[in-house]
Amino acid sequence: METVVSGIRPTGMLHIGNYFGAVRNFIQLQESYPCYFFIADFHSLTTHPTPANLHSSVKRVLAEYLAVGLNPEKATLYLQSDVPEVAELYLYFNMNAYLGELERVSSFKEKARSQPDNINAGLLTYPVLMAADILLHKGTRVPVGKDQEQHLEMARTFGNRFNRLYQAEVFPEPQAFSETAELVKVPGLTGAGKMSKSAGEADCIYLAEPADSLHKKIMRAKTDSGPAEPGSKPSEAVQNLFDLMKLVCSADVCTFYHVAYQEGTIRYGDMKKQLAEDMELFIAPWREKISAILANDNLLAKTASLGAEKARASAAATLAEVRHLIGFRKFY
Ligand code: AMP
Repeated sequence: METVVSGIRPTGMLHIGNYFGAVRNFIQLQESYPCYFFIADFHSLTTHPTPANLHSSVKRVLAEYLAVGLNPEKATLYLQSDVPEVAELYLYFNMNAYLGELERVSSFKEKARSQPDNINAGLLTYPVLMAADILLHKGTRVPVGKDQEQHLEMARTFGNRFNRLYQAEVFPEPQAFSETAELVKVPGLTGAGKMSKSAGEADCIYLAEPADSLHKKIMRAKTDSGPAEPGSKPSEAVQNLFDLMKLVCSADVCTFYHVAYQEGTIRYGDMKKQLAEDMELFIAPWREKISAILANDNLLAKTASLGAEKARASAAATLAEVRHLIGFRKFY
């Protein structure tokens, strides 16, 4: 049986890049597989958040994922810290994880370079915790991008090492996959690359973006001085606007502006106004839903407790097997 496991980092608000590039995939997956989606609040401790920030980020992620359609009755949606078994499995894997292999992980090397003042052991053993996250539920499929391939390879290594050491077939080999969703790259508003928080607030359109700032951000999006000559290729900034239009505007509207571009009659102000209007139609229902869920403590509590219960049942079964294999026996 295939089991899907994926972690969600509690890093602020979801933007439409996250939605089209990742979250939509989760929503499809929950229809076809047993899915475990967890909010990676243990992982986030490597950056030392304040208690208030940690709590509000976790709450927001939970609310936003519910709002966009993760269904806690179908998928198991839980907080990592509600399932202490993951910390226990992490401990066991750590006993057979070696300094050399952990130091060679590219995400660790990158972090060690970019934050030399905070190279903590949690960062070093991040792939060990990730292996525990996945193997806790005997996950076989992990919907991640290429950048996570090395971490997944390590999850296979730690699982196989445990299997070999205790001569048992406890853990499967989890594989990356992304077959279910077409891979979309959502461009940002500042003219270069994909939409990303690291490119700044002005680059991102959040699912909970207020109407006025949505309008302002789009109207200020980068363009150029117009088509060089009829039939010329749009600049990256303008192409990005066309790509954003494709996500939320009707085919007729997209065609209208493409033709206007080709004919050299395009007015970027009109195009942005149209994009802003259609984006608002797309965003408004999410925004309302997110704020309603954020105010609904009862729903959040019910979701988290149902998720914790389901995740702990699966985790407890794995840990019982693991503890037995290791040689822990009860004296009472
Ligand atoms: P992040 O929190 O930025 O690591 O993103 C979480 C998920 O959203 C990852 O699976 C990313 O691949 C996906 N994602 C982030 N930004 C974009 C984007 N602009 N276009 C498509 N997918 C994205």
